[in-house]
Amino acid sequence: MTNPAYGSSLQPFAGITTFMRQPATRDLEKVDVAILGVPFDSGTSYRSGTRFGPRKIREVSAMLWGSNQTLRVSPLEQLRVIDYGDVDVVPVDIQVTFERITNDVKTIHSAGATVITLGGDHSIALPLLRAHHAKFGKIAVVHFDSHGDMWEYDFEGFKYSHGTPFRRAVEENLIDTDAYLQIGIRGSTSDLNDYAMATQLGARLLTIGDAMKMGTEKIVETIHQTVGNRPVYVSFDIDSVDPAYAPGTGTPEVGGFTSFQALEMVRGLNGLNLIGFDIVEVNPLFDHGEITSLLAANLAFEFLSLLALKRNRVQ
Ligand code: MN
Ligand code: MN
Repeated sequence: MTNPAYGSSLQPFAGITTFMRQPATRDLEKVDVAILGVPFDSGTSYRSGTRFGPRKIREVSAMLWGSNQTLRVSPLEQLRVIDYGDVDVVPVDIQVTFERITNDVKTIHSAGATVITLGGDHSIALPLLRAHHAKFGKIAVVHFDSHGDMWEYDFEGFKYSHGTPFRRAVEENLIDTDAYLQIGIRGSTSDLNDYAMATQLGARLLTIGDAMKMGTEKIVETIHQTVGNRPVYVSFDIDSVDPAYAPGTGTPEVGGFTSFQALEMVRGLNGLNLIGFDIVEVNPLFDHGEITSLLAANLAFEFLSLLALKRNRVQ
C-alpha cells in the first residue's frame, strides 16, 4: 500500500503531502473518490488567503489515521481514493476559473468517481453545483455557513463572488428548493430582510439560534426529513464553526458551532444519498496553530467515511 516516495514510515511530518497520502494522479480508472483542490480566493469580499487552503489541509491531513471509530469504518480500505491535485485556477478571472472547476468535476464524474473539493472561497460552490447538476439533475443541498451567500450582487453589480453563489445556483435552477437547508446562519447583515429574502428564494434557514436550541440530534433529524432520498450535495463553509474553533477564515462570525458539533452534524448525514462535498473558506493566513485546517481535514475524512458507508449499503 505504502509508496516509499511519500515517506515509507509515514511519519506525519515526513514525505510528500497529498490528502491522507493518497496517490497524486489524474488516472481515474477504478477510482471511487477524487480529492480536488481549488486554490482560489478572488471571490473574496474581505480578507483573502483561502488560495492557501487546499495545500494546508493536505499537509495537516497527514495527522489523520485511517479508521473512523465513531462511524465504524476505515474508508481508505473500502474506497480507492486519489488526490487529483488542483484546478488550474486563474486568480484574475473568476469566470474562466469557474469553467475549469466545472470541467474538472465533469471529467471526474464521467469516470464514475465522487468529488470532495477543498477550497478556496465559497464562490466556487457555483461551478461545483453546475457540474453536479449536469450529472444528477436538481439536487438537494445542505449548506453549513454563518452567511446565506445569497446576495443579489456583491461589489456593485458583479454577479460572482463568495457572497452570491447560492442565489446564482437557485436562479440557474441547479438546486431543488424543496430541499435546500442553510445551517448556522448568524451575524450582522446589511439588511434586516436578508433572511426573508433567502427564504423567498427557497432556502430553509436554521439560524444559529434555532440550531443551538435544537441540538445536533434534532438538526440531523430535520436534515433527513427535508432531504429524504434525493441526491444531496454538502457545502461546508468553515465559518459556520465558531471563530474560537476555526479562526482561520476570511469573514468570521462569532457565536457559532463547536468543532464537535460540526463533526456530529456531518456524521449525522450518514444514510443520505450523498453525491458530493466541499469544504471552503479555510484561510491559513489567519489561522492559529493550524486548528482550522485540522478541522477541515477531519471534516473531509468524515465525508470520506460517509462515502465508504454509502458504498457498503449499496453493495
Ligand atoms: Mn459561505
Ligand atoms: Mn460564510
